[in-house]
Amino acid sequence: MTNSEMLFERAVRHIPGGVNSPVRAFGSVGMTPRFITRGKGDRLWDADGNEYIDFVGSWGPMILGHAHPAVLEAVNKAARDGLSFGAATEREVQMAELICSAVPGMEMVRMVNSGTEAVMSAVRAARGFTGRDKLIKFSGCYHGHSDAMLVKAGSGLMTQGIPGSGGVPEGSTKDTLSAVYNDLESAEALFDMYPGQIAAVIVEPVGANMGLVPPKDGFLAWLRSLCDKNGALLIFDEVITGFRLALGGAQEYYGVKADLCTYGKIIGGGMPVGAYGGRRDIMSVVAPLGRVYQAGTLSGNPVAMAAGLAQLTVLSETGDFYEKLNGKSDAFFAEYDRILSDAGIGHCLNHTASLGCVFFTEKKVADYEDAQTSDTERFAQYFRFMMDKGIYLAPSQFEAMFLSAAHTAEDLEKTLDALREFAR
Ligand SMILES: *Cc1c(COP(=O)(O)O)cnc(C)c1O
Repeated sequence: MTNSEMLFERAVRHIPGGVNSPVRAFGSVGMTPRFITRGKGDRLWDADGNEYIDFVGSWGPMILGHAHPAVLEAVNKAARDGLSFGAATEREVQMAELICSAVPGMEMVRMVNSGTEAVMSAVRAARGFTGRDKLIKFSGCYHGHSDAMLVKAGSGLMTQGIPGSGGVPEGSTKDTLSAVYNDLESAEALFDMYPGQIAAVIVEPVGANMGLVPPKDGFLAWLRSLCDKNGALLIFDEVITGFRLALGGAQEYYGVKADLCTYGKIIGGGMPVGAYGGRRDIMSVVAPLGRVYQAGTLSGNPVAMAAGLAQLTVLSETGDFYEKLNGKSDAFFAEYDRILSDAGIGHCLNHTASLGCVFFTEKKVADYEDAQTSDTERFAQYFRFMMDKGIYLAPSQFEAMFLSAAHTAEDLEKTLDALREFAR
């Protein structure tokens, strides 16, 4: 028995499923989780001393790779001054200034502790501001695990084959309307059905929780005009895409402005952080300025802010950061695609910037339904093969691969070599 297996045996006794987030379970690929002890750059080590090239990157935050010296130093320095005060600190001001200067249209921002909290709060602000209740989301988009968002919510639920979630009263989701990603008519039909009642449309600008599904040309701009026409707000859930596609996230990358954006993952540098913000008039409804209540004991925590600030500073001060990362990723995913095509393996490779995903299907994957045509048995084979070669992928067909600045040319080539062997 390996150390990871022994740890898992202990874990399942006291932790539901042995994991603190279902996406970490290896059930769908017929394995048990590897327990990670250490990370550095693009590498991970597990409790048995196995070394991996990591393409999960903690599900997005580690865009600079693991244990980046600037981030670690900032965390150490902040920690020595105390871990939490529950009072205002300068780093929160710096963080807000940095986000507002990097992100188009961002005038005010509130820090929270997770992406889930960011979305939950942004939706509350949108409802408070518009005085409307209904919300349109897209099937296969994940917006955290708050009750109202657990409708056709992508990866974790797709992998487990759970249709929605238990424990969510019908009343909590009755105002959540589902449209089809990349389908212009389906959202418009909902506006026709509920005139004057829709507070907001929330969307992952790149669907990154049903595998990876990029927006079709014009989809986001069309959502913008649909919202304007109907007096509804447009919320970009940029928890993955924020500071990932570009410094200004999907708004900059696609040139479409949202009214509110939500953040998480990268902005915490690996610490538990989320944020939501946008137009000043909308954010002014949030307490203590306005009457939409939202609070947090540890929000804007000094150590978490130090980590996030250090990471965002590297991203914003490295002039060609995104050109380099995205260029490297383009070449990598093009070769990934070519290897599978040359071997005659039926697949669809979707990729945007440093995010990518292979679906084992003949379909061109543009929405949730297409994603579900993927052969998950074939995925499990591929996953196990790659793991065996030291390539650490997300243990689910319905998750993206994350590239970081720390992925070296040599390690990307090693990964492609493993894929070539798999293809044979
Ligand atoms: C991860 C994610 C969330 C939830 O963030 P947590 O920090 O896990 O609560 C919300 N939206 C999107 C798009 C995400 O990828």
